[in-house]
Amino acid sequence: MKAVKITVTGVVQGVGFRPFVYRLARGLGLKGYVKNLGGSEVEIVVEGPSSKVEEFVARLRSDKPPPAEIQSLTVKPTSGGFREFKIEPSGRSRRAYSMIPPDIGICRDCLAEVLDPKDRRYMYPLNSCAWCGPRFSMMEDIPYDRGNTSMRDFPMCTNCLREYRNPDDVRRFHAQGNCCPVCGPRVWLEDRNGVVINRENPVLEASKLVEEGYILAVKGLGGFHIACLATDDDIVLRLRTRKRRPEKPFALMALNLQTARRIAYISEEDARLLESPIRPILLLPEREDSPVSRYVAPGLSMQGIMLPYTALHYMLLSNVGDGFLIMTSGNERGEPMCTGNREARVKLRGFVDYFLMHDRRIVNRVDDSVVRRTGGFYTVIRRGRGYAPRWVRLPFRLPRPVVALGAHYQNTGCLAFEDIAIPTQFVGDMDNLSSLAELENAVSFLLKTYRIDLSDVVVAVDKHPRYLSRLLAEKWIETYGCRLVEVQHHHAHAASVMVELGVKDSEMVAVTLDGAGYGDDGTVWGGEVLITGYGAYTRFGHLEQVPMPGGDRATEYPVRMLMSILSRFMPVEEVREFIVGKGLHKRLPYGAEETDAVLSLLERGNTPLTSSLGRVLDSASALLGVCFKRTYEGEPAIKLEATSSRAKPVDLLEPRVSRSKPLVQTHRIFEELLEKLDRPREQLAYSVQRALGLSIGELAVMASKGRSVDRVLVSGGAAVNTVIFEAIREKAEEAGLKAYVNTVVPAGDGGVSLGQAAVAGFRVLESLL
Ligand SMILES: [Zn+2]
Ligand SMILES: [Zn+2]
Repeated sequence: MKAVKITVTGVVQGVGFRPFVYRLARGLGLKGYVKNLGGSEVEIVVEGPSSKVEEFVARLRSDKPPPAEIQSLTVKPTSGGFREFKIEPSGRSRRAYSMIPPDIGICRDCLAEVLDPKDRRYMYPLNSCAWCGPRFSMMEDIPYDRGNTSMRDFPMCTNCLREYRNPDDVRRFHAQGNCCPVCGPRVWLEDRNGVVINRENPVLEASKLVEEGYILAVKGLGGFHIACLATDDDIVLRLRTRKRRPEKPFALMALNLQTARRIAYISEEDARLLESPIRPILLLPEREDSPVSRYVAPGLSMQGIMLPYTALHYMLLSNVGDGFLIMTSGNERGEPMCTGNREARVKLRGFVDYFLMHDRRIVNRVDDSVVRRTGGFYTVIRRGRGYAPRWVRLPFRLPRPVVALGAHYQNTGCLAFEDIAIPTQFVGDMDNLSSLAELENAVSFLLKTYRIDLSDVVVAVDKHPRYLSRLLAEKWIETYGCRLVEVQHHHAHAASVMVELGVKDSEMVAVTLDGAGYGDDGTVWGGEVLITGYGAYTRFGHLEQVPMPGGDRATEYPVRMLMSILSRFMPVEEVREFIVGKGLHKRLPYGAEETDAVLSLLERGNTPLTSSLGRVLDSASALLGVCFKRTYEGEPAIKLEATSSRAKPVDLLEPRVSRSKPLVQTHRIFEELLEKLDRPREQLAYSVQRALGLSIGELAVMASKGRSVDRVLVSGGAAVNTVIFEAIREKAEEAGLKAYVNTVVPAGDGGVSLGQAAVAGFRVLESLL
């Protein structure tokens, strides 16, 4: 006989872990208890014959509920003397935090019930259990009990209550969202005037309408989608016109892997991620014979595909001939996705013909997560459903809580306390007050849930003096007297990778590549090699600076940036001749007139300067005729990468780094590019990205010389570009260094808040030491 105490950390709360442990222990005839320790930990004590105890420990890992993730498991001897095995209530005496579980894609068993005509949940679109279903999206508070979720609106019927109380019912015992067609939330279909047209078979009816070419709003877990056929050009274009969204790709939802494989190439590893409880949108290389309309992801080589994550989605898709549909966020342009039924009726009626609704309230908005592959890593582009609001461990302990408000595009906030950082779900671009209000909501939810008082908080913001998030920081400073810490944009990017890798404070080399970040010298940075720790950093080198003629307008119309780079090595008259000769002036709204205006701006020299890699990629994109107008963030650069996706790995262009000063000589890369313009476009697109990546890699290696570093950290929105990342890694590896890119939070601006929290927290810590 022996007794052991087992501590398990990871995603172990809100995923049916304790009932699983209870059943497993009782099944093996063991005694003891299981309880939530707060944090993301569960404590188990088991007592019994050694062989049974050993079997118990092994099966904790092998038989765990599918959404549970075990990060660590420690076993220590302890004293016994138990009479039975019990689930003990969570200890309330000590101050313990518990992780808010993320939403979980439907499990196999729930789906099987929905498809079984003999089951009492047959065709129930909102079936879920202890292993799956909504969590964060319906939670009003912690701990995760029904009374703290929007399921409190639906008292359980006797059958459901019996399951809920039966410890032998592994998927329903203590399943907080337990419900059925008798007692649970209802689904119905209504037209755009709010008239209910079907309550009996609303999902089946919705499938028929989609098949007929109608556009539908569909309420899901964390918000509304807009659904329509993805194979019919006219319908896709109708959706584009209604949404005023000319180019930005739409996501697809496919019934299963088999269907998804008709659209894209999917590896076994991709398949595991697609089918995992997270069910993200994964960007996958599109097949040449894909049946999807070319207007779904214009000019791109990948399609964003996810699998159904609720029974409702599954039922909707299984009655659609194609087996897949467009499933894009239901929002007005620039606004967050709708979550409330009333809100959706008002805001979406201009886009959709019908609404597939249900009456479970969505408490927290959670967008679908988007993931892509970058040089062998899965990088998160948008961190929402399935990931948020999971914790990230900090490598040090904060003396005071920090709230970080992030940057501008694809923003998130982050709450950090003790050694925990909790990035919010994806919020959106901070270009209007409703997005700012959303940021405040997302952060306030975490503050309230974890009982953290704003008056104790240090607020971290980007150095940019005109970011909208400053308004929120100022309001809090005025109301609560919070302390403010400014964090440079690229320093935050670099720190986010350090946190992910668990790096304690030490000198690191970081490459940060993106569109724009406010630099210490007031210019726009975005192609930086930093030598950095959490507390401070120095700018080792960067892309050479070029003027941005017309500021924001130069970001919208890449031909402007192209002229700027060309004027570095060509006299203005020649630039004019070249632009007009290639017909590129027609790609500016005011043609030749605008071309002349840009050139005179460049001649006078009073334009803002930038070292942004994004702007260089934009210029190449325009020069190669790939993209002339940016209608969504990163568009010209994303399309440039897409253009190069089928190129042969042949280098046409040399990397260019000045020896005297650590600078990438962008203009020399363009000089050579101009000489080779007769080569195939996809080869040139590949080579220009590659030459830039190799040059940046060389800078990073230069930065590492004479320092005890063994790796290069890569972050920023452009870091997920595979050609560029792999070129940097190649240079790094030649010098014996490893290269890492973000995998936990987005490398883009959605990851800035985590880095800000770490930097600000570390500074507070240092000043207290
Ligand atoms: Zn389930
Ligand atoms: Zn029921």
